[in-house]
Amino acid sequence: MIKRNEKGKYVIGIDLGGTTVTAAVVDQQGNILSQEEIPSYAEKGVDITCDQIALAVLNSIEKAGLNRDEIIACGMGTPGIHKAEEGIALWSPNFNGWDGADIYTPLYQKTGFKFYMGNDVNVATFGEYTYGVGKDSEIMVMYTLGTGIGSGLIIKGKAYSGVFASPELGHTIIDVNGPRCGCGRYGCVEALCSRDAIINRAMTKIISGRKSKLTDMVKTLTDITPKMIDQAAKEKDIVACETMTEIGRFMGIAVANTINTFNPSLVVIGGGIASSDILFNTITQTAFEISIDCLKKYCEIKKSILGSKAGVLGGAALAQSGTYA
Ligand SMILES: [Zn+2]
Repeated sequence: MIKRNEKGKYVIGIDLGGTTVTAAVVDQQGNILSQEEIPSYAEKGVDITCDQIALAVLNSIEKAGLNRDEIIACGMGTPGIHKAEEGIALWSPNFNGWDGADIYTPLYQKTGFKFYMGNDVNVATFGEYTYGVGKDSEIMVMYTLGTGIGSGLIIKGKAYSGVFASPELGHTIIDVNGPRCGCGRYGCVEALCSRDAIINRAMTKIISGRKSKLTDMVKTLTDITPKMIDQAAKEKDIVACETMTEIGRFMGIAVANTINTFNPSLVVIGGGIASSDILFNTITQTAFEISIDCLKKYCEIKKSILGSKAGVLGGAALAQSGTYA
């Protein structure tokens, strides 16, 4: 049985993605002492990716000027579904050869540290709960808006997972006649509010003949980004404002369903585009308009404050608390 190093003072938080792995040395207050980001080589198989994780961990310790015996343990968020306590990956999209693989044994052999693993969004949610906007919240749900729509749930201090998976609120259906989602179903939150859905909505308006300053911001319409749409919306461009408002309404319906389902004290909206005020304000307004009165009374909706650091800080929070996500 692999043990934590209780004599240590610091933990390592790791954010493992299909392209890069980031490791950070974190103190007990959630301050990042050092950070190392290198390629994860997800397509090259378990052994090589574990080598990269170990390298990022060891480099981050060296960068912080610490010794290995000052580290308590490592916590890691990674996409997919896992048996976290046993360290077995069950479903890891984009990671070659991971399904069914034991991850903790090679990581222990390469680093000497105990590892705690969890789904990336659930881990980021735990980071936002421990060190971010969710501090001391009783029941917290977080959505991350991006290429997909991720979600995590913290119940009374513990990251929730069902039999083995965290909630996939991005694949709840909010429009039965809606567009096809990457998961194969129709009208999921993700099909309506993902990065591509935002861009497509703006493009469709422009292609139908509507005038927009977005046209002047790019060479071809496919170069439009959600950030540009937000910028144009700030400058009162009607197509951009409509796009953000329509996306915000869909997302607001999703949040209202979440309020009615979980009676949370806090819903956090994260991901790059969550910084858009018009989007965030429409989400909040819609969610409070259509959720049940006695439930919404106890719920706040806030933007994430950790941003891209939520992943490594979530990993650190797992290692610190000795829990899984
Ligand atoms: Zn879906």
